[in-house]
Amino acid sequence: MTYAAFSSEIARINDILCAVNLLTWDARVMMPPGGTDARGKQIATLVGLAREMATGDTLQRAIEDARLELSGVPRGDVRVLAVEQAAQSIAALARIPAALVGEAAELKTVAQAAWAKARAANDFAGFAPMLERSMDLQREIAASLGYTAHPYDALVSTYEPGMTWSRLQELYGELRRALSPLLAQAREARVRSEILDRAYPVEKQRAFSSLVSSRFGYDFDRGRLDDTVHPFEISFTRSDVRITGRFRETWLPGGLFAVWHEAGHGMYEQGISENFSRSVFTTDFINLYAVGGASFGTHESQSRLWENRVGRSRRFWELNFGELQKTFPDQLADVDAEEFFRVVNAARPGFIRVEADELTYDLHIMLRSEIEAGLIAGEIRVKDLPDLWREKMKQALGLDVPDDRLGVLQDVHWSSGMVGSFPTYTIGNIMSSQFFAAACREKAVASGLDTGDYSPLKTWLNTNVHQHGRSKSPNELLVDATGSDLSTAAYIADLTRKVEEMAS
Ligand code: ZN
Repeated sequence: MTYAAFSSEIARINDILCAVNLLTWDARVMMPPGGTDARGKQIATLVGLAREMATGDTLQRAIEDARLELSGVPRGDVRVLAVEQAAQSIAALARIPAALVGEAAELKTVAQAAWAKARAANDFAGFAPMLERSMDLQREIAASLGYTAHPYDALVSTYEPGMTWSRLQELYGELRRALSPLLAQAREARVRSEILDRAYPVEKQRAFSSLVSSRFGYDFDRGRLDDTVHPFEISFTRSDVRITGRFRETWLPGGLFAVWHEAGHGMYEQGISENFSRSVFTTDFINLYAVGGASFGTHESQSRLWENRVGRSRRFWELNFGELQKTFPDQLADVDAEEFFRVVNAARPGFIRVEADELTYDLHIMLRSEIEAGLIAGEIRVKDLPDLWREKMKQALGLDVPDDRLGVLQDVHWSSGMVGSFPTYTIGNIMSSQFFAAACREKAVASGLDTGDYSPLKTWLNTNVHQHGRSKSPNELLVDATGSDLSTAAYIADLTRKVEEMAS
């Protein structure tokens, strides 16, 4: 029964991490402000416990016993895969010294508070010492994990296994070359932007976005939608996968598209094979996080697919605008489907990443990745960041950044010690088009999209992406599902088509 002992130890770790997710959900959705300190300690205790169990003797022995028991079983067997995958990721986790993990966790709380204060006061200098300390720790973590070409590779790999800085630079180069003429063309499209600024009652926004999420295939019997400041998705096994949204009366797309984005993440988690619940294939040991998605980028591919490839498509609005108009008869009385399609796809270069449109979003990511890679390699100094940011924004989008709140201080990531996660947003965009193109090669999927039946697409994703959980690497998953490695071609084709539709 040694494999069983291994599985049950993994299940216990996954249970703890699912409980951490629930505490996190509560902290971001329900918890009164006074709960912050105690909650931080509760989460730290549970994550520490999970780490001790993952790197402890009991699991190590269980892995060795299971290996013995399974010797002779073919490598493709799911049990062999589980044991080898656990051994490998736990070895990586164990390479990061516990003291370093503790220090990073402690700094995170202080640095986030310093960042929030600095952002409010537009005072980068006040945050700089924390950021320097944070980057030092990340450099140490990269060194502990190990890398061959570039220290950034080690950090990126914790979010996107196998990804490297040199590969990212190739992808970025291809995108940059394609995006700049597209952006110039897109800015000429006729758009009635004032449509979106009208008053759309929040309750109706919530009802419409939930209805469409259900039609896409998000299962409310195993999920729920709540309000939050920064929308997110989080799961406690496939049987309880929650999403959150943020609705503002005068910004309709913020509500709708964020919910469909999170529903896309949610469908991924809901679609993972039942056999993988509480297993290695739903546990990220490096980040000590209960999740079924193969990587951060793969996860993002699923949210972007529903948000952008489906939800921002012309056909979607031809089919669904009537219903939106019935929901908001006064606000949308003088608007037609085509005008609405255009306005939700308008390209408007801006300072803020989370508000960026499809054509400018990746440029925000590239800027951040280049800065991160430079910081980690010691080629960029923290004190130079505000000016460097201004320079790069001018280059990328032609904008003059008026202050650091709209510049280098806008994202929470670096204060949280998340270095190397930004590229996964662009990887997700690229993958979303590859998955979508492969799915659309199937007749049932294409005709479903044409008639407003989204179940064939969702079934295709369940079969080819979701159900596998973390049992395949991101690249294996992509190649098996689409027939090719990560490639910008499908994404560039989608963006080009969209710009052409907007011009006609
Ligand atoms: Zn997302």
